[in-house]
Parts: sequence; structure tokens; C-alpha cells
Amino acid sequence: MATTQFDTWNAITEPDEFIKAALEEANIPALMVSLVHITGDMNIIQGDICPHPRVLGDPYVGITEAQRATVRAQALEILKTYRDSDCRLPQAPTVDQVREMMNFLVGEPLSDDYGQFLMGELSLGGGNPYAQPGLRDILLEKRRAFHVIIIGAGMSGILAAHRLKEAGISFTIIEKNTSVGGTWFENTYPGCRVDTPNHIYSYSFKPKDWPKHYSPQDVLLKYFNQCADEFGIRPHICFNTSVESAEFDKKTCTWRVRVKSADGVSQTLEAHAVISAVGQLNRPRLPDIEGRETFNGISFHSAKWEHEHDLTDKRIAVIGTGASAFQFVPEIAKQAGEVFVFQRTPNWIAIEPVYHDDIPEGKHWLLNHVPFYAKWFRVFRFWHNAEGVLAWVKKDASWTDQAHSISAANDELRVQFTKGMKSVLGDNADLLQKCIPTYPPAGKRMLVDNGTWLKTLKWEDVHLVTDPITKITETGIVTKSGETYEVDVLIYATGFYPSRMLWPMKIKGLGGIDLQEHWNGNPRAYLGMTIPKFPNLFCMYGPNTNIVANGSIIFFSECEMRYILGCIKLLLETGCAALDCKQSVHDTYNQWIDEGNLQMAWGASNVRSWYKNSQGRVTQNWPFTLLEFWKRTQAPKKSDYTLYKPAATPRTSPSVHHRHGE
Ligand code: NAP
Repeated sequence: MATTQFDTWNAITEPDEFIKAALEEANIPALMVSLVHITGDMNIIQGDICPHPRVLGDPYVGITEAQRATVRAQALEILKTYRDSDCRLPQAPTVDQVREMMNFLVGEPLSDDYGQFLMGELSLGGGNPYAQPGLRDILLEKRRAFHVIIIGAGMSGILAAHRLKEAGISFTIIEKNTSVGGTWFENTYPGCRVDTPNHIYSYSFKPKDWPKHYSPQDVLLKYFNQCADEFGIRPHICFNTSVESAEFDKKTCTWRVRVKSADGVSQTLEAHAVISAVGQLNRPRLPDIEGRETFNGISFHSAKWEHEHDLTDKRIAVIGTGASAFQFVPEIAKQAGEVFVFQRTPNWIAIEPVYHDDIPEGKHWLLNHVPFYAKWFRVFRFWHNAEGVLAWVKKDASWTDQAHSISAANDELRVQFTKGMKSVLGDNADLLQKCIPTYPPAGKRMLVDNGTWLKTLKWEDVHLVTDPITKITETGIVTKSGETYEVDVLIYATGFYPSRMLWPMKIKGLGGIDLQEHWNGNPRAYLGMTIPKFPNLFCMYGPNTNIVANGSIIFFSECEMRYILGCIKLLLETGCAALDCKQSVHDTYNQWIDEGNLQMAWGASNVRSWYKNSQGRVTQNWPFTLLEFWKRTQAPKKSDYTLYKPAATPRTSPSVHHRHGE
């Protein structure tokens, strides 16, 4: 059974004072359930002190300071006894007791399926909640003979490779970049960091004692590099190589994948299946603004940062105020002479005081020394930052003021965010008016930091411009009111082409049908993964698998990979060579998704965002619970697919291992 860093813990040898200080940093609910493991005493979680799940914006989930002090004092005594008795644990809690502990942690009684789901996440006995059982029972020769091409070696591609390797299935990864990491390799702009809590932004099977609550890009890139090395997948990667096209051959039931290396050499590879792990935010978008080409100064997109330019004392224009600008503007403003930030739509901002902070020493110690604490802490984060949040962004049709909020809970969120933003902007009426959105929270992607962005906007040499841009000239930007902004540098923080999924690859399915033409800017797939007429093509982070408020995208990738392995298992078990999603299954599913998205804040008609395509349909987001995705992606239903047998064998053995050096 696979073990992780947090399946074991270090013995406690530290003096009382040290333990006491460390406990100051404890997450109280996670600590309390850990104390049950250490003492076997369920009374610890059966008293008055318990989390209240619906306390908005309260990191202590309703547990008062006095109650926290009581728990810390109790924990100190328990940990001292545990230390002084050679760190021996009593008998493990029963399954029913663990369920009760789980209910306590989330603050409400969970249904059976939620219990099962979170118990998997908790993975107390090690093991892997996202594995595909039974696949390894299939003859190794059969598994090895099945070859998969994975496109992309980012977070999803590394995961896919790792799972295929575990399953004994052969694969090749095609990666356009010179190394692994995907978005964390490409986005190197100053200040780039994750904004999902890091303890849930990590593979379930590879938890890490992160240095910060929200790590910067270099730490994440290192993590994914370490994973690639540790999982032994690097030798399977063709770096500096792009997929140009892929075509399904019905006779052989294989994909012919045309790749081109950076030195211009093309070749055609064959595979039984293709996994696209290219992500949704992979192709930078420059805005369609008149005169863009005429600008004579330095210009670049945030996802292709040109580090060679010294920005000291420069006059800089930044177009866009999404998650990328939000992170780099405060950094470049430190050196620049003047920064003009061009905002088209403001964003809702959640103020997270520890956003930039290191994880304190006490917290590290708890994660590494208190039995099971790290596991329960992850589940706490998982629930309270994910599933627990969904209720705040769901529409209540009877709520009257739909333009500003979509339900009473969503309105509470609006009030809470407004209060947080006002606490930083103070009495700067002009900035308040510009920065506080009028649309419902979660209508667009919400941003999170410790107030740095808003503070930066208050600086004398930083200017938030809301007058719409009318054109770009040789020397700067002109706005609607006729104002001209002369700048040395123009940075486009204008996002990506999310609706053009898998673009610019040319992908042809049954009967030569072209995927881009078929989708026509309106990508859809069954479970975000399979598309009728494109057999054995699987998307990871495909249509409608993005999340706005609830959780980590890594969770989705793990579910997706479990499902894809299930599809491969189905093929190997049945002796079939390809599976093709039934149109009716796909259509019914997508209707359900569309109806679901209309019930969510991001479906609101008065908001423009990258979640929607040009027709206003939400193409990117998953509108339901994580549990729902987890349940639906356990394993494929055979009846959802048409299965094919090949009429001919492939011309070559579809297994190619080429490595274009890193
Ligand atoms: P984005 O959220 O799509 O933001 C693009 C910005 O450019 C928006 O402010 C948009 O305004 C503006 N814009 C686009 N075209 C324009 C035009 N013609 N004129 C004026 N303004 C224009 O892009 P992003 O900031 O790169 O972020 C994309 C996504 O990447 C995020 O939502 C997030 O999912 C991910 N990301 C995550 C992190 C993180 O985890 N920390 C960091 C960066 C990015 P409108 O709002 O009016 O359209």
C-alpha cells in the first residue's frame, strides 16, 4: 500500500513549553479529532465545543477564543502523556467512530455517500481513494500492449502518466515546453502564486508540508518537477514537441498523432488512446484593440513574461485586472516609475490575512508530529474551502435583487467582501466606487489576497483607470474621454482562450469530423472527458470541469484519471479497442450541466467572464458538488458507450518513446 509523508509522523520529544507554543497554531477541529486518536476518548468531540459550518469568513468556524484556549490546554496534557508513554496509540477508532469524528469536523451530520467520499479523502489507513480497482488484475501483457499518448506534462499530464505507470500501461507524453509543470512552468510573472490553499492544492497521494499557506510559482514548479522525477515519468516525455494534429483511424481503432519538434522535425505516432492534458488556460490572448500592433515600446503578455526588461522607473500600462494582474501589479509597482492599471470590470476580493505568510513553525510541527492531524487538517480545508462554500453561490429564484446578489447567502457574501475591501480602501471614495463590483459575488472568478492589491492601488504612482480604452498608439493608450497615457511598457494581462479548448491542434474523429468545427467555440463533453465521434479521446480539465468557489482543480483531475483508467479497463476486459460516448448520453448530461450553471452566480446574465463563450453559455464550469463529480466518475457505465473492435491491426506497434532533451 502506498504511504505518504503524512501516513507516519515523528515521535514527540519536545519539552512542554515547545508543545504549548506549537498548539497556539493549531486548527482546533482537526486537533480535537486527532486527540481522539491519541486517547481513544470520544468525549473530546461530544461536548459543547464544536465547529459551526455556516459562520461566514470565520477561520475558527464559530469556536470562541475561550473555547480554543480550553482545547489547547487539554491538548497539552494529552500530548505530554502521549510523549511520556513512548508515543503509543490506543486501539484505532472504529469506522462508526471515524464517521462521528468526520461529522464533528465538518460541523453537520453527513449523508452516507458524503461519509464515504470524505473517508476516501481522509485515507486514514493510507491507500488511494482515486485508484481504479481491478485494473491490475488484467494480464500485464495486455496492459503493456495498450499505448496512450498524453498531451501536456502539467499537473494533469503528470498525474495521468503516474496513474498509467502504476497500472502498467504504456504511454508517451508530448510536451511543447522544455520542461514539466504546465501553467507553473509558463507563468513566471512576478508575484505568481496559487490562490487555493496549498494543503488541498496537491495530489491526494503526494501531500506536502508546504512552506506557505499559498505557495509561490517556484515552489509549485519544484513540487511538480519532484513528482515527475519521483514517479519516473520524465524518460517518457518528448519535450520541445507539439501535437499538430490527431486523427482517429476506425479500421485500426488507433489515433495517429502528428507531432513536430522545435527543430522542425515532424513524425506520426500511433496510440490506442489520447489523453489531452492541455488545460483550459493554455493559450494567451491578446486583446482586439485598435492599434495594438503599432505600439513601439516593450510589450508582452503576462503568461509570457519577458524578464530581460528592467522595469525600474518605467511608465507601465497594464491592461486587465484578473487573477494575473492582481498578483503582478503590486510587485512591479515597487520598481516602476508609474503604473496605469486599465480595469474593465472590477473583481470581488476576499481578504485572507495569511495569504502571503509562511506557515508558522508550530503548524509544521503539528503536521509532522501529532498523529493523524495532517490528514484531518486537509479534510477540514477540503470541506470548508470547497464543498462548504457552494451554498453561498447558488441562486434562489425567489431572491428579488438578482442583479447584485442571487440569494440571501450570496448577499451575505457581498456584504462580507464589501466590508473587507472597505477595511483596506478606507475612505477613498473614488477607489471604493471603482473597485466594488455591482454584480453578484462569484459571478466572475473571485480573487484573494491579504489586501495587497487594494493597498497598491492607493499608492501615489499607481493609477486605476476605468475609462474604456479606445485605441493603442505608438506611444501608449488612448481612452474614451480622449485622455492619453504615454508609457514605456505595455503588459497584457488579458487572459486566455478558454473556449477554444484543445486549439490549435487539429483533431479529427470518426468520418473525419473536425473537433474545432464540431464545437464551434462551444465545447461540450460527457463528464468533461469524452466526446461522441471521438473514440478513445479523453480530456482532462475539459469542458465544464472548472470550479469557481469550491475546491481544488487537482481533485477534478484525480477523479478524471480514475475514470479514464476505468475506460481503459473496460476496453481491456471486453477485448474491444475503442469506446465512443453515445450522443444521447452526452446531450442529456450537457442539458443537466447547462441548467445547473444557470442556477449559479457565474450563470448570471449580467456578468461577462471567461467562464462563458461568445454565446453566453458557461462552457468552463462545473455547477454541482464535488461529491457529484466524484460519484459520477467512479467508473464508466458500459451502457454510456458504443464499443468497437478493430477491423485491422495497426500498421505499427503504437508505442513510441522519444526524448527530446530538456
Ligand atoms: P482573466 O481573468 O481572463 O482576466 C483578463 C482581464 O483582462 C480582465 O480583467 C478583462 O476584463 C481584461 N480584458 C480582456 N480583454 C480586454 C480588453 N479588450 N480591454 C480591456 N480589458 C480587457 O485572465 P487572468 O488574470 O490571466 O486569469 C485567468 C485565470 O487564470 C484566472 O481566472 C484563474 O483561473 C487563473 N489564474 C489563477 C491564478 C492563481 O491561482 N493564483 C493566477 C492567475 C491566473 P473583463 O473582466 O472585463 O473581461
